[in-house]
Amino acid sequence: MTDKFDTIVIGGGIVGCGILYGLAERGMTNTLLLEKNELTAGSTWHAAGNCTHFGHDAKITRLYVDSLETYRRAEAESGQSIDFHKTGSLRLASSPEEMVAYNRLIPIYDKLGVPYKVVSPEEISQIHPLMNTEGVLGAAHTPDDGHVDPTGATLSMANSAKARGAKILRQHTVDGLFKTATGHWEVNCGDEVFRTDRIVVAASFWAREMLQLIDIDMPLYAMEHHEIITESHPDIESLSYELPTIRDPLIPGNIRQEANGLLIGVYEKNPVAWNTEGIPPEFGQELLLPNTDRLMNHLEKCMWRFPLIESAGIKKVNNGPLCYPPDGFPIIGPVESHEGLWMASGFHVGIGTGGGAAQFLSDWMVNGKPPYSLDAVHPNRFSKPIPTKEAVANILGHYSAGYTIPQNDVED
Ligand SMILES: Cc1cc2nc3c(=O)[nH]c(=O)nc-3n(C[C@H](O)[C@H](O)[C@H](O)COP(=O)(O)OP(=O)(O)OC[C@H]3O[C@@H](n4cnc5c(N)ncnc54)[C@H](O)[C@@H]3O)c2cc1C
Repeated sequence: MTDKFDTIVIGGGIVGCGILYGLAERGMTNTLLLEKNELTAGSTWHAAGNCTHFGHDAKITRLYVDSLETYRRAEAESGQSIDFHKTGSLRLASSPEEMVAYNRLIPIYDKLGVPYKVVSPEEISQIHPLMNTEGVLGAAHTPDDGHVDPTGATLSMANSAKARGAKILRQHTVDGLFKTATGHWEVNCGDEVFRTDRIVVAASFWAREMLQLIDIDMPLYAMEHHEIITESHPDIESLSYELPTIRDPLIPGNIRQEANGLLIGVYEKNPVAWNTEGIPPEFGQELLLPNTDRLMNHLEKCMWRFPLIESAGIKKVNNGPLCYPPDGFPIIGPVESHEGLWMASGFHVGIGTGGGAAQFLSDWMVNGKPPYSLDAVHPNRFSKPIPTKEAVANILGHYSAGYTIPQNDVED
């Protein structure tokens, strides 16, 4: 194998594999992806796989739209199933302000050509008959939403990229980055050295320590994120279709059907950051210890909204780390102080946005300019170092805000 590549991608999660695929689709195939463990071994393998078209922020909606299209293209090209379940989603509104915000999104979705409707409580009960709609004023309905198998989606892109000529090395931990006098980069994995013109850092919450090696302070932190899976329930077993995903800002959380039970993603009111002083480099394909005490308040609200949970019982509680920058947006684009260094880290809804973000970045890298304006994700928004304490406080506030939609986001 040559040791000089046009681009080296660090990290084999859904984002890194998406970038390898995006570059290959655009003809850049002298590329290498380095993964310290196995593909998907970071956050990707245990994600619920939810893919919505409803952006937390209107500026990000295009990433959601492009993600599913990318996974579907890679599935067709590679033959690797992404196991997409098209269930649609309902984002509940329990306040007049939320209804106003949802209605104001209609022209944006019209422009994007994405099906979107604001529906009444009666329509909600028809779409999701197993939910208590007390206090609900309406919902934003995105019928093209659903969930994918995150591993399938990642492998479909990795396999398609490889078939076009890209290389992937697993069990290769990047432990050094150097800019040479001639302007190239050297990427070290133990005794092995790979040379390249461009590096893409898709190493999620490990990226902060990696970039500190070259004196860059990129505010990327990890948060604990719980999901609860219930046992099967006869009311779900008897349905002839799969229930849509519900996003309820009052819990706050997302609830979808998993087999014949429910899977609940919880956004804790008192969230917990994980290893803010540094991620253990040896942390691999692992989950964290769940803390069920912290979840009780959310679970009670869930049982009120979905009474069947009480008789179904809880089957499993997972707790996994999520990557969060202080403003909640991923960090995508060039690091202007270090020519040839590109960022693609900080995704906390990386299944929903990873494929689209990879298309966005690949286009930018190959054509020299971003395909559309998305300043909210640019790495230079953190040009001044943010003290850890302040960064984490911002992250906690953003995470615990759950599903609220800031008014100014809706205006774009
Ligand atoms: C419980 C839970 C449920 C979730 N559910 C959803 C969901 O339904 N929908 C959704 O959109 N998102 C969900 N997420 C979030 C989603 O999992 C992440 O946003 C996404 O997987 C991030 O992908 P990534 O490629 O950026 O990072 P990762 O998947 O973490 O990939 C980073 C990779 O970099 C590698 N790496 C790190 N350091 C090095 C190094 N030095 N050298 C080489 N390789 C290195 C790691 O091994 C890892 O494989 C969930 C997360 C959790 C915790």
